Amino acid sequence: LPQFAFAGRSNVGKSSVINRLVGRKNLAYVGASPGKTTQVNYFLIDRRAYLVDLPGYGYAKVSQAEKERWAKLMETYFQQEADRITAGVLIVDIRHKPTANDLTMHDWFRQTGCPEIVVANKLDKLKKSQVEPAMTLIRETLELTERDLLIPFSAEKGDGRDELIRHLTAACGG
Ligand code: GDP
Repeated sequence: LPQFAFAGRSNVGKSSVINRLVGRKNLAYVGASPGKTTQVNYFLIDRRAYLVDLPGYGYAKVSQAEKERWAKLMETYFQQEADRITAGVLIVDIRHKPTANDLTMHDWFRQTGCPEIVVANKLDKLKKSQVEPAMTLIRETLELTERDLLIPFSAEKGDGRDELIRHLTAACGG
């Protein structure tokens, strides 16, 4: 089955994006990698695809040990699953320049060779005139080319949902 991996900074709205996309109630929990607060959660969408909810990162109050556990967990995930990831969804905050952790995540997705879709969430928090410069800053920081996918999104309002679904479907080969 296709596998979609969702990653993003804590509080970026990853849960909200997933909810907006499929709704938690449409996800069947399959299991998790070991770990308490930091774990990789696997869900089945309609028995048709796996959705992998990667643990959020960049939360300031997290201990060094917890950060290392996160890094190790990610490393293991990418080592073991790289070939099975159909597409990676990197969620960033449209209001902010992507962080060092976002860049790390972005590099991991790139290294797997799977298509990556960057979702710029919280679009509703910007004025219209602020959107274009914000998108440019994200594109430049992540070194995205014209062909790379960057979708302005609002988990709150629903903007970008159809476009994201279209690209996820396309990543499965149609
Ligand atoms: P997670 O930690 O990345 O899973 O983030 P959550 O989904 O829990 O969202 C964190 C906070 O951001 C919550 O208060 C959400 O209501 C809010 N949020 C998420 N997406 C949006 C959005 O598109 N627009 C606005 N205005 N708020 C959002």
